[in-house]
Amino acid sequence: MTPTPSSTRLSARRHGLFRDQVHQDALDTVEQLRDAGYEAYLVGGCVRDLLLGQSPKDFDVATNATPEEVRDLFRRSRLIGRRFQIVHVRYGRHIIEVSTFRRGHSEDSEQEDERLHADSGLILRDNVWGSLEEDATRRDFTVNALYYDPVDEEIRDFVGGISDLSARRLKFIGDTRLRLREDPVRLLRAVRFRAKLGFELDPEIMEALPDCARRLREIPPARLFDEVCKFFESGFSSAIWQMLATTPLRAALFPSVPPEDPLVIAAMANTDARVAEDKPVTPGFLLAVLLWRDYAARLEAGDTRRSGSEAAAAAASAALAMEHEIITIPRRFSQFVRDVWHLQPRLEALRPKSARLALEHPRFRAGYDFLVLRAATGEPVEEAAAWWTSLQTLGQEGRAEAIEALNAGVDPARKKRRKRKRKTRGAGYAATGGESDHG
Ligand code: ATP
Ligand code: MG
Repeated sequence: MTPTPSSTRLSARRHGLFRDQVHQDALDTVEQLRDAGYEAYLVGGCVRDLLLGQSPKDFDVATNATPEEVRDLFRRSRLIGRRFQIVHVRYGRHIIEVSTFRRGHSEDSEQEDERLHADSGLILRDNVWGSLEEDATRRDFTVNALYYDPVDEEIRDFVGGISDLSARRLKFIGDTRLRLREDPVRLLRAVRFRAKLGFELDPEIMEALPDCARRLREIPPARLFDEVCKFFESGFSSAIWQMLATTPLRAALFPSVPPEDPLVIAAMANTDARVAEDKPVTPGFLLAVLLWRDYAARLEAGDTRRSGSEAAAAAASAALAMEHEIITIPRRFSQFVRDVWHLQPRLEALRPKSARLALEHPRFRAGYDFLVLRAATGEPVEEAAAWWTSLQTLGQEGRAEAIEALNAGVDPARKKRRKRKRKTRGAGYAATGGESDHG
């Protein structure tokens, strides 16, 4: 049995977090649970982020009510998950996640059917209820285990989270290796929080990293996809990629992606800028970027007896299938990737027919953005990128004229230039070559 830790109670005067900083929906959820006689606290990222002066992504509530009890209490609520059961309480489109206090995995339990381990120590199911103190020690990082009571504005800290927060340190609760064996995804969470919070990783995490990276193979690919999406949407994907690229994590998650690919680095920076401006980001675009070199190499090495579009489709399938074994790529995103790749030769061709087809394509914008990114990172497609950029400054009529002008309008000098360029194009860029017959 792990000893029950004693808790430190901090008043608002000491921690500076007041209830008016908490979202009204989260306050309502806590109050309703309390009124029904349960314990309830805010916990996790929201407490951590508010203490750091950042705005939380979401609000998590922890309670001693079981998921069924929570569901019965809130009219608009739903049980979610099997491996880790929680309740989503809805306020319009806003969701508050309510989780029941759980026990850690070092203790014996009478509810063994609700707790399942693989031989490796991996937690397969985690639905054994516990007390507040037990719930604190089963969480991942000390800074994620701070409980805020919005009624008397008090923080309960059982694991030294406050001191790690001021030291800006990410540290697992308990034994680092054991916690990573229980759930290797915690390593990816460490990478994300490090980038987002600008915290230092406990040296023990760095020591355990290579072994843990290998264990990511034990994780269902669908869960890894969710985690990788959190990377892309975090607004800190550049810093995250830098960490992946310089550790065994890159090979574990994206074996076909060159660690130094300038296209990837530029795309991550763009993505972070988009998130900062509150613009949407799609995992499809980043997957297209990440797998582009592999796709291009496969196309280059491909079966020359096939026609251009068949060879391209086969290369795309192979590149996507390899990644899909590690990280599930839902169909809508793999189709997005294919469309973006497929558009490239059409956009590059600078011929009226392919230009018209490209412009009408529902993924034109993403295809164009991809082309611009390629041009900006040294691929020989600047001319096409510049043409498409200027096209978009024109009105409907101007566009039609410009496209028509591609026909006869191509001056002989430019034609020659393009011919020369095609010949000198290096290996690895074949997929983008103008000679493709896709258009
Ligand atoms: P954010 O929501 O900003 O991404 P968060 O810390 O709130 O960060 P969530 O995924 O919302 O992360 O999880 C809420 C809390 O649940 C965490 O703060 C942590 O206490 C706990 N938690 C989540 N995932 C795990 C895990 N794999 N192992 C242990 N505890 C976890
Ligand atoms: Mg959260």
